[in-house]
Amino acid sequence: MASLPEALSELIHRLSRLPGIGPRAAERMALAIIDKNPAEIAALADALNDAVARVTHCPHCGCLSQDNRPCRVCDDNARDRSIICVVESPLDSIALEKGGGYHGLYHVLGGAISPLSGVLPEDLRISELLARVGDGVVSELILATNASPEGEATALYIRQELDELHERRAAAGSSESLARIRVTRLARGLPSGSQLDYTDSATLQSALDNRTEL
Ligand SMILES: [Zn+2]
Repeated sequence: MASLPEALSELIHRLSRLPGIGPRAAERMALAIIDKNPAEIAALADALNDAVARVTHCPHCGCLSQDNRPCRVCDDNARDRSIICVVESPLDSIALEKGGGYHGLYHVLGGAISPLSGVLPEDLRISELLARVGDGVVSELILATNASPEGEATALYIRQELDELHERRAAAGSSESLARIRVTRLARGLPSGSQLDYTDSATLQSALDNRTEL
């Protein structure tokens, strides 16, 4: 792009590094941006900086929140605190919220176990999850990891960890039992290998409604 002004080339280059934006789309976006009036562009730049500086992860569930505060779901007293839906990424919780039929809480793992990609259980927020389910309030854990080999392996791993935690507590004579916690998995209606955040909300809602014991 030697014919373009350097500043424009740089803008196109930066935009094309964003997911889902190819070189052509980046060019069109860059040209549209420089065509806008300065006030609108200043507002866009402010919105970018503000989002980067202020959007954080909820200290409880790991969903997206603002200024390190609890997210809107955790903050909502009307939500059912006895159910936690475990997802791989914050985008999955956003996809599930679009269905409008889920009223429990979430727990974001931050990925799925994938030894080939170097993602081990300790890289995910699994210990934080076990700490949450041990509080005596939670009665169901919905393992809504993706319907991929990694997502399935992660769900099974969490199921095993829960069983082990329960046995350890029983052996230590703890009166707090984890046996009553129901562990479920989204129904098999989801296409194999599918990612939650790319699934339409009606399909997701039905997978949630028809969840099965794991
Ligand atoms: Zn939260």
